Amino acid sequence: MKTPERPCPDCYAAIERPHHGFNAACDGCAGRMLSRSPVYNESRALGRLTPGYQAALRSVNLTHKHVQIAEACDYMRVNRAKEPRQ
Ligand SMILES: [Zn+2]
Repeated sequence: MKTPERPCPDCYAAIERPHHGFNAACDGCAGRMLSRSPVYNESRALGRLTPGYQAALRSVNLTHKHVQIAEACDYMRVNRAKEPRQ
């Protein structure tokens, strides 16, 4: 398992404002990308780790905890409820 590393510039930007940049070498970015993915949303909705989500975690070598932390730091996820629906 990888250990969380210092946030990259894309991670910092994503904390402060809606940001769609991802650094392929950054675990935080991989976690953030996964936290915005349909497989993660499905897992959230069902309240369990689905096989598709588990496979996605393995593919980026992260744990569910990494993704939860990335989600908690992601402006787009944190402020989702406050912004108008499209
Ligand atoms: Zn990053």
